[in-house]
Amino acid sequence: AQAHIDALEKARALNAYLVETPDRALAMADASDEKIAKGEARPLEGLPLGIKDLFCTQGVHTTAGSKILEGFEPHYESNVSTQLWRDGAVMLGKLNLDEFAMGSSNETSAYGDVVSPWRRNGSDAKLVPGGSSGGSSAAVAAHLCLGATATDTGGSIRQPAAFTGTVGIKPTYGRCSRWGIVAYASSLDQAGPIARTTRDCAILLGSMAGHDPRDTTSVDMPVPDFEAAISRGVKGLTIGIPREYRVDGMSPEILKLWDQGAEWLKAAGATIKEISLPHTKYALPAYYIVAPAEASSNLARYDGVRYGLRVPGKDIAGMYENTRAAGFGREVRRRIMIGTYVLSAGYYDAYYVRAQRIRTLIKRDFEEAYAAGVDAILTPATPSAAFGIGEKASADPVEMYLNDVFTVTVNMAGLPGISVPAGLDAQGLPLGLQLIGRPFDEETLFAASQVIE
Ligand code: GLN
Repeated sequence: AQAHIDALEKARALNAYLVETPDRALAMADASDEKIAKGEARPLEGLPLGIKDLFCTQGVHTTAGSKILEGFEPHYESNVSTQLWRDGAVMLGKLNLDEFAMGSSNETSAYGDVVSPWRRNGSDAKLVPGGSSGGSSAAVAAHLCLGATATDTGGSIRQPAAFTGTVGIKPTYGRCSRWGIVAYASSLDQAGPIARTTRDCAILLGSMAGHDPRDTTSVDMPVPDFEAAISRGVKGLTIGIPREYRVDGMSPEILKLWDQGAEWLKAAGATIKEISLPHTKYALPAYYIVAPAEASSNLARYDGVRYGLRVPGKDIAGMYENTRAAGFGREVRRRIMIGTYVLSAGYYDAYYVRAQRIRTLIKRDFEEAYAAGVDAILTPATPSAAFGIGEKASADPVEMYLNDVFTVTVNMAGLPGISVPAGLDAQGLPLGLQLIGRPFDEETLFAASQVIE
């Protein structure tokens, strides 16, 4: 814990941590020492972790990357972090993120960009760590924690992991409790870990997962021994390669790596099969209707009365307006406007209902592939390697949304997906492959990820 606290001080330029909690870390580490001395070590004893600042932490400033939550100190602890502390992990602090987890580059945070520890060969240009869990991915990649919590609504665990050469898993919807996590789009949000290896991810997910009656969508199923699953191998498994994921503008290096990944799995005993997921091309536009719709409803609670920031006005409506104008950033306001538009009378059927129908078709595509004997699906995690800070932020927002083309399908269908580093591009930047699994079959993903890693 002390080594990590020292490292944090030297790496503040990355802006990965919003809050550092060194006193709490050392107190937790002392408690861990005692447990070890008594021979009562718990599964994560003494392991220093960072917590994405979307998870409420009792008595510790929680902002969701937004000015509107400035000063908010929850009097409760998220279920996921509670389980990590129960298992002996040590809290180093809270990690930066896109505002309310809306973004793919960590550039929408009200508290500044996160800088990736990676650089292109022979260049000093600063790169994004991905988003929205950019603080988590940068901190793990820069050795500012052993692992981090993250959340994934449309790719926010897998894309930052791919951009930073780390491993990230979005478990099946319902595997982890969302209780105490600031909601973005509740039917898509899931918590999961980012870590440096498949094994570390498996160990962390084992602690984070499990039924919680306080989240009615959390599933009452036993948590498997994920760590044991990583050595299962892929012999006898069928891995699907969806042809619709060969999109225009994808880098040839990523295409090559995708083939290479299939070769590695084949060499380890898997059968590779080309499959079709015909509704893939509708996933991104449908996601960018469903997610803002749910966000506009979830964010209605930030009115200046109950949490964080309050900017006075001449009456209560004026106070709402002033608080929201000062508290919400550009991207969040854009999403609220899109969301309220697609939910409004007259547009509801044309946009929201249609997007929900597409969602069902996407889910069915996957169900049919799995029913035909596919055990897991291999795709690239992202259409490109990490881009430069400022490179896409100022452009058309759709340019940024296109980054999520391979990841949003998984959230729309509620499936588990893992991103595993698979190689470097010609500029020396990490590239990731994604494996998508059957519902509640994270074990196969860990086994296949281990073969690629
Ligand atoms: N980039 C996507 C969005 O902005 C996904 C974010 C996420 O998974 N939290 O909605």
